[in-house]
Amino acid sequence: MIVISKSNTPTPAQSLLEGKLVKLLSTNHSLLILPEIYFLTPDHPAIKRLKNTKFSAFASWHFPRAAKWILEYLGISTSEPDIINLSCAINFADAKLSSLFSGIDPSDNPETVDLYTICKTHWYPVIDYGRCVDCGKCSEFCLFGVYKRDKDKVSVARPQMCKPGCPACARLCPKGAIIFPHCETDDGIAGDSEVEIKSGDIESARSFARENIAAYNKGKEEKIADSDNSQDDIAGKDPIDSLIDELEDLE
Ligand code: SF4
Ligand code: SF4
Repeated sequence: MIVISKSNTPTPAQSLLEGKLVKLLSTNHSLLILPEIYFLTPDHPAIKRLKNTKFSAFASWHFPRAAKWILEYLGISTSEPDIINLSCAINFADAKLSSLFSGIDPSDNPETVDLYTICKTHWYPVIDYGRCVDCGKCSEFCLFGVYKRDKDKVSVARPQMCKPGCPACARLCPKGAIIFPHCETDDGIAGDSEVEIKSGDIESARSFARENIAAYNKGKEEKIADSDNSQDDIAGKDPIDSLIDELEDLE
């Protein structure tokens, strides 16, 4: 079984590749097609289905480190599957695209289950527990109660309280353990394991937040200008200025 997590707001090139991939793989493999994994909650039917599915490969538009820890956050073990970043394959010809999955055994009776749907967007931190040393800086810094620290570890207890577009705590983490998969201005924070995350003090975290919020909102305007289902829209517009004010109050 191969799982493909499609983009929530695909570009034409992403749609083309997703369609090509399904066509290429579906003749020999069973496929489970999911919405964008980052926007799903643990109780979403697609996640319940995934928990009951043994899969050998997981493909999404996220860096593999981000995809792994999103899946773990959702309660899905990632010890076995290959995790593939489709962004790396955007210009691949058919043969090269198929070769990404050449190590996966074909299915005797291939079937495709398509659970894709457009989802409400979210913005929340994902913790890489391979890096986290439980220093508690993120939970001390965040005034919005996103993190919870108990005797075992820090966890993301209230993701819905995180401020869309702001990755400030990721810059404070001394181990680069906090991932925001849609961070527009730092691939390390978006989950690229090849990019070192610069950790800094509160002032640098705040100024980084300003920069990223502007990029996030610009990107959102461009990508989903006509969408009415974003976290911001549902919660009531969260203007940049008021978020900056809240960040100022963190001092
Ligand atoms: S700041 Fe980083 S290392 Fe420290 S508890 Fe938070 S995630 Fe873990
Ligand atoms: S980005 Fe801001 S609101 Fe979200 S968890 Fe980090 S400090 Fe809290």
